[in-house]
Amino acid sequence: MKFFDTHAHVNFNAFKDDGEAVLLRCLQAGLSVVNVGSQYSTSKRAVDYAHKFENFPKAKPSEEGLAFGGDNPISPISPLNPLDSKSLNLLNQKPLEPLSPFNPLNPIGIYAAVGIHPVHLKKGSFTHVDPEELTEEEIPTTGEIFDYGKYLELARDEKVVAIGEVGLDYHHFEPIDDIEFLKNLQKETLLKFIDLANEVQKPIMIHCWGVKSSKELDHTRTDAYDDLLEILEKHPVAKRGIIHSFIGSYKTANSFIALGYKLGLNGIITYGNGYDRLIREIDLKNIVLETDCPYLTPRPLERGSRNEPLFVEQVAQKIADVKNISLEQVANQTWKNACEILGL
Ligand SMILES: [Zn+2]
Ligand SMILES: [Zn+2]
Repeated sequence: MKFFDTHAHVNFNAFKDDGEAVLLRCLQAGLSVVNVGSQYSTSKRAVDYAHKFENFPKAKPSEEGLAFGGDNPISPISPLNPLDSKSLNLLNQKPLEPLSPFNPLNPIGIYAAVGIHPVHLKKGSFTHVDPEELTEEEIPTTGEIFDYGKYLELARDEKVVAIGEVGLDYHHFEPIDDIEFLKNLQKETLLKFIDLANEVQKPIMIHCWGVKSSKELDHTRTDAYDDLLEILEKHPVAKRGIIHSFIGSYKTANSFIALGYKLGLNGIITYGNGYDRLIREIDLKNIVLETDCPYLTPRPLERGSRNEPLFVEQVAQKIADVKNISLEQVANQTWKNACEILGL
């Protein structure tokens, strides 16, 4: 079985000590990964990681302590880092041109996406509260300024399969923020990244979360999705893309599907039955899997433990359970969907 984690952040500091080992065990397990940049530095690191593993299994990863050397056959899957006891058991628009045909021979690999997360357009910090408000974390933000030339250079790299993450985040505004100013800045930046995606003819990886509600994530917060739909209708991305970490309603999902987008589902769908109806009613061919690791660890893994790409299987299992189909069907179809939308 092959899985595709279309949105991971092994390029983030949470993996600074063992990122290469984590990616290596993904490849050994038959899992492809897109590491997604949230600012220039992490975008660059995502591209560097993709090249480090481009000749898998022939290449010899550079760092010490990895499970196999250059000339050895692929070793069996190495045990997961001990997270907790449970994880050890896991092992209408004008018509657009068609996407590239699916190539069944496409290789398992580590890929990159390059972008600026909307929260990084502001300099300061925001409070990250997980959807069930169990953990709270102060995350510093950089006040990134988009440099088209520097991103164009990264975007042209053959291992870069999507432009992003970029988009609208009305969820993490703080009371002192100039909200109208930040919303406009996010929209302007998104438009520039749409230009970039169209220049290099690659799909876009969109982050879109609505305003903060007093309780957990819910289906009623459509403001950011409404703004995003308007932008994508007026400024089409030729190769479409992925609405990652989708948390909208069935109706909103259908609007994006009609535009040719795939919906990225992650651990959030395992936190209860709030998304079961969406999963049941959306055709599997419109879904791609993701982890958004190190965040959003899926159940039944321990909440608050570090998420990693291998745990995408738990997201797939939830979809299989709700749709009453096999895990293998979910793996195969979502792999195909990911390859199609990412042009692999
Ligand atoms: Zn995101
Ligand atoms: Zn992300």
